[in-house]
Amino acid sequence: MRQSRLFAQTYREAPTEADTTSHRLLLRAGFIRQLAAGVYAYLPLGRRVLRKLESIVREEMDRAGAQELLMPAMQPAKLWQESGRYAAYGPELMRLNDRHDREFALGPTHEEVVTALAREEIYSYRKLPAIVYQIQTKFRDERRPRFGLMRGREFLMKDAYSFDADSEGLEQSYRTMYDAYGRIFQRVGLNVRPVEADPGTIGGEGGTHEFMALADIGEDTIVSCSHCGYAANLEKAEAGTLTDVTRGNGLAPELEKIHTPNVRTIDELAAFLQVPASALLKTMLYDADGTIVAILLRGDHEVNETKLQAHLQAAQLTLADEAAVIRATGAPVGFAGPVGLNVSLLVDRTIAAGEEWIAGANERDYHVRGVKPGRDFSVEATGDFRNVGEEERCARCEEGAYLFRKGIELGHVFKLGTKYSEPLGAAYLDKEGRKRPLMMGCYGIGVSRMMAAAVEQHHDEAGIVWPSAIAPFCVHIVPISIKDEVQRTLAENLYERFLAAGIDALIDDRDERAGVKFKDSDLIGVPVRLVVGKQAASGEVEMKLRNLPDSMTLTAEDAFKIVCDKMRNRESTDEFL
Ligand code: ATP
Ligand code: MG
Repeated sequence: MRQSRLFAQTYREAPTEADTTSHRLLLRAGFIRQLAAGVYAYLPLGRRVLRKLESIVREEMDRAGAQELLMPAMQPAKLWQESGRYAAYGPELMRLNDRHDREFALGPTHEEVVTALAREEIYSYRKLPAIVYQIQTKFRDERRPRFGLMRGREFLMKDAYSFDADSEGLEQSYRTMYDAYGRIFQRVGLNVRPVEADPGTIGGEGGTHEFMALADIGEDTIVSCSHCGYAANLEKAEAGTLTDVTRGNGLAPELEKIHTPNVRTIDELAAFLQVPASALLKTMLYDADGTIVAILLRGDHEVNETKLQAHLQAAQLTLADEAAVIRATGAPVGFAGPVGLNVSLLVDRTIAAGEEWIAGANERDYHVRGVKPGRDFSVEATGDFRNVGEEERCARCEEGAYLFRKGIELGHVFKLGTKYSEPLGAAYLDKEGRKRPLMMGCYGIGVSRMMAAAVEQHHDEAGIVWPSAIAPFCVHIVPISIKDEVQRTLAENLYERFLAAGIDALIDDRDERAGVKFKDSDLIGVPVRLVVGKQAASGEVEMKLRNLPDSMTLTAEDAFKIVCDKMRNRESTDEFL
């Protein structure tokens, strides 16, 4: 492509609303443009990267035996009502009505549609197993679209669905997809870790893994063990037995009311009473589908809402509002406690052991000490309801310590079981002629999010440093002076030869100063730059790799050969980067 014709311009500064490195660089370098919050156009450079990502995903899906299809983005609400998700999906589902006032949704995901297709197409065990996939635009009215392509409201996803006769079959399909994901991220050139995850609203029994790109701006926290291979999303990471069981001083064997004027938070209470936060009992009230429940945990611990929601099987879980707290406890926010509290109590395992605690008194400006679980309040359910802490002992091996890192979720593999096939009536006939529900799995990759994650992992001060497998171009030819006949001829000649050899080349044929050209070239981030300058007279060019500081002079012929060779042997290694 000729840079003089490129349908995009580069910016020296990013718009102020750009909130991460990848967002800023993709805007500045002319890869994407925002149309509305979370809605982006991909300019030619961005489209090229997307297509390369799509190709890698497609190749690996095909290799894994999955068949590509394309389902509609516009989906009848009726299907969503059949699965029960029309209401459950909530405001994230984009809804619309047609001219006859029939309801539709813009697909945020395609379990309903694919299950409806499978119930027609798969009737016998002979058709199993089957895996289908598509690469398609998804719509989600995210509460907080942000970080550019990272969390859009319209974005590109690869979604795959597997159909099996039984759980063993599903296990195999799941493994096949899991392995394909590993290859995809490796080929793209991303540093990605699979972690155990929570099934969330797509739901279903059995395992689920997320593939996380390590990056500081990641919205997820990855917990991994320093000793065994255990790694999980913080939402899911299991809490082990604590070794640091601390009890505060000043605890009483009997209940004793203490005056704590205006002391509401755990920190304030710990300071006021001169005890560690771990001696305090934190009581949090939640609204679970309209019912108020209380969760009790140690003062220095944090509630894990994902675990709580999974335990309660609640569709919606939110912190109770002030009015609900006053109604339930008879006191303002800050004084809730378990003694005499008339709502369901969920007790985190850590405190079920039966020591004395300091808790809220359900009375303005009062707390109580000497609170004993079992004696002073009945423990209805105990469980793991808290976030694990950094450096805490691993629940699996009980040897290593938990390490925390930030990650961006790029892919997700789920075992759905019969969650959709049962309600939608997708069944097959087994060998004995009995009707049985299809066992399903679903597998997503955020293709557009992957583009942002790649920039997050591969950039420097000057711009993007594309991994060669997904770079918009393989080689960037930069003649220093386009007006110089010798330079122009050599550059044009190289350009034509690369195109003829099937290698994506970008030529900076603009009449610009060298400084401007180099800045843009660094910003756009093509892996190889061939500078055609004064040495063109002797048939030489300067080769500079985007990820290395030095450059070298060689003949145009050698440069051509090296680039062709590297591009052909790129497949698994990415040594070019
Ligand atoms: P998140 O927790 O980030 O909202 P999710 O669990 O809702 O993700 P899935 O439903 O599993 O995501 O979707 C599959 C993949 O699609 C995700 O792994 C992610 O890469 C991508 N994805 C999800 N939501 C968005 C979005 N709003 N913008 C861009 N990509 C997204
Ligand atoms: Mg989501």
